[in-house]
Parts: sequence; structure tokens; C-alpha cells
Amino acid sequence: MDLDQPIKNVILQAIRECHTDVPVLEQLEEHGGWILKKGNDYKFFFLKNDNTGTVRAQMLFSANKKSVGDGPLKAIVKEGWSNFATFHTHPQFSINPSSIDWNLLFQNSKYNFIYSPATDQLSCSARNGGDDENQTWVMTVWDVVNNDFVKTNAVVDIRLSDEIPYRIHEEATQAT
Ligand SMILES: [Zn+2]
Repeated sequence: MDLDQPIKNVILQAIRECHTDVPVLEQLEEHGGWILKKGNDYKFFFLKNDNTGTVRAQMLFSANKKSVGDGPLKAIVKEGWSNFATFHTHPQFSINPSSIDWNLLFQNSKYNFIYSPATDQLSCSARNGGDDENQTWVMTVWDVVNNDFVKTNAVVDIRLSDEIPYRIHEEATQAT
């Protein structure tokens, strides 16, 4: 996919709220939220991580249900916004999604962004059709340079069952 300026702006905001502006100790934890869209406008909702304050939060972002209900769901129901993408950080891992990301977080959204401050890269895993068994995704990767996004060559077609690229992250997740 390509990022136009309104999407770049909302992702830069998400990076600030989920990484740059959080206290240093909490920067070790994963943070995230939802990006909503209305016309050509985008809005980011920071969501509390259910695991925050535990070691698990360094390896897993699970959006707190109450903050989903109070924030983006309310905007969808009452203000006519629609769900555009998920966003979360991987402070200690690469921009590759974990198997939990695929199986839970990504299932309700076509676009799913991950930012890794460790490598200063952004990925977007986009659902590309197919049924559950044969679902395919396209992952696009950008280097984050001076508040801009430079697409790398790492645009990969992924079958959902192909977990080999994600094994390292998955092992780390299971170690908790
Ligand atoms: Zn993740």
C-alpha cells in the first residue's frame, strides 16, 4: 500500500502517543490503538494495554475493552467514523507480527500497522482476500526517516499458515 499525507500524519501521531511521549520505563511495553476514518479524515485512539505494568506488556498488546468502548466504538456508533486500521508498537522486536497478532488483533481490520522503535521501521499487514484457510496478506515495510516513511523492498505476500518468518517473536511471546 501507499501512504498519503493524511495517513502519514495520523501514524506520526500514533508513534508519538504510543512511544515518543510515554515515560521511558513504559517505552519497553507495547502500546497501541485504533485508527478510524471518515471521508479523508483519520483519527487515532490510544487504547490502554490490558497487560500494562507486567512483563507480558513487553511482548503483547491487548486492547482494554472498556477503552475500546469509551473511545473508538463510541465514535463509530455516534459520529459516523469507520474502522480503518489497528496500530501497535514492538519496542523489543522487529515489525513482523506475532502469531497472536495474526490470530486475534488483525482479524477485525483490513490494515494493521506495527512500529518498531528498535529498528525505526513501520509495517502494514493488509488483508488481501481469500477464505480463512487460504487467506493471504501483503506486508509492506517502511523505514521511518525524519518524520517520513521510505518504502523498503520488503513487500511480502504471506499465506496465513506460513509462520516461519514469525517464529522468533512467537517463541519470545510463549516464554512468558
Ligand atoms: Zn504485536
